[in-house]
Amino acid sequence: MSQKNIDSVIAPPPIHWVGNGFRVHNFIPGDSRLPMQRMTPFVLLDYNSEYEFPASDTPRGVGVHPHRGFETVTIAYKGKVEHHDSNGGGGIIGEGDVQWMTAASGILHKEYHEKKWSKNGGIFQMVQLWVNLPARDKMSDPKYQAITKEEMGKVELQNSFGFIEVIAGEYNSVRGPASTFTPINMMNAHLKKGGNADFNFPGNYNTALLVIKGSILVNNSEEVQTDNFVLFENSGEDFTIQANEDSIVLVLSGEPIHEPIAAYGPFVMNTKQELIRAYEDFNSGKFGYLED
Ligand code: MN
Repeated sequence: MSQKNIDSVIAPPPIHWVGNGFRVHNFIPGDSRLPMQRMTPFVLLDYNSEYEFPASDTPRGVGVHPHRGFETVTIAYKGKVEHHDSNGGGGIIGEGDVQWMTAASGILHKEYHEKKWSKNGGIFQMVQLWVNLPARDKMSDPKYQAITKEEMGKVELQNSFGFIEVIAGEYNSVRGPASTFTPINMMNAHLKKGGNADFNFPGNYNTALLVIKGSILVNNSEEVQTDNFVLFENSGEDFTIQANEDSIVLVLSGEPIHEPIAAYGPFVMNTKQELIRAYEDFNSGKFGYLED
């Protein structure tokens, strides 16, 4: 086994707004270091770093929009999000919870701050990932997986230095509840000051960290601050993180999907023809109906 080294540490890109409810740093697709193919199957990562929203009787968010060809994974660290879709799915994503939505063949979707939360306002912090689907699964049926923090796999670290919360894949043989179409590891490392955790993923997997809280030392050499993204090389298997203060780190590692990506707006397909078809199907009402 050999060490997995850091490729680059990426500072949060300038923010942009998704609707009026999500103030995000778009890490993927990013600059030349992070095109969609570089972190596949994670083809988009929007990160709403801690931001205080004032109280609002009208929940902020983003109205009806389509998706086809991939999955959206929403992780709520602070605040609550309410989703609805044309498939009758939806629900509230509470603090610490995850919603894994398979858009696949196509859905209409809207996502807002949860009503009661919005009335009070508060600190909001969230990650939304787009997980690509291989060509064979792009037109499969839409579905939802609502994953509460209680349902996640939990691995206590030695010496009470924190715990690993497994959303998908596994850590020390403890599996996360999410079912995935391709091999994916997704977990939150909750480390107390001075705590450390070792990770081991196949060398070819696309692997990265996002520091949600605190600051960490990676491989005993590189210090990484809150809101920064760590991209690893595609060689070596093992890396270590150590917490300089109480920290939370999102850990992502997935088997690359070696297929062409044709992406435009809310569609991620393999070819331009499939993108055109997605727009035609959307415009002719084949994605169903969802009230605004
Ligand atoms: Mn959406």
